[in-house]
Amino acid sequence: MCCNGVLFQIVRLQPGDSVALLEARGLKLRRKKRAPYFDQPCAMLEGCRCTLYSDRPSRCRAFECQQIQRLGLGETSEVEAMAAIVAVRQLVERVRAKLGAVGDVSVGDPLLERCAQSLAAEDVDVAALNALLEAEFRVAAVG
Ligand code: SF4
Repeated sequence: MCCNGVLFQIVRLQPGDSVALLEARGLKLRRKKRAPYFDQPCAMLEGCRCTLYSDRPSRCRAFECQQIQRLGLGETSEVEAMAAIVAVRQLVERVRAKLGAVGDVSVGDPLLERCAQSLAAEDVDVAALNALLEAEFRVAAVG
């Protein structure tokens, strides 16, 4: 979910990230006013595997969702963390199915952006997904 457009819309490079190296490895960077960034879902993700893993950007290296942070602090167990992951994956699949049913095929765009464009604002599954991501996975944005 960190790489497939469920949690993030973009990932911004940080000082110390090598633009030249990342572009040489095939990462397509965009540049606007601030630091370069790349879109999510990430083009370097194959299945659940990062094809850039050894050279991945620093935000990718540093990111820990709430579940990993809580696990590290002993505030949750692997079983509980897996249950949260399963729950959010099920919601993601429900939302994707709804998007498919309304003819949304923009699979290269972030999931919640697709929902905003194609599903009703009050869709219960989208609301539940957002609430679960907020409560169990998102962390305060940095950089
Ligand atoms: S570069 Fe790798 S770790 Fe970073 S978002 Fe893409 S697939 Fe995920």
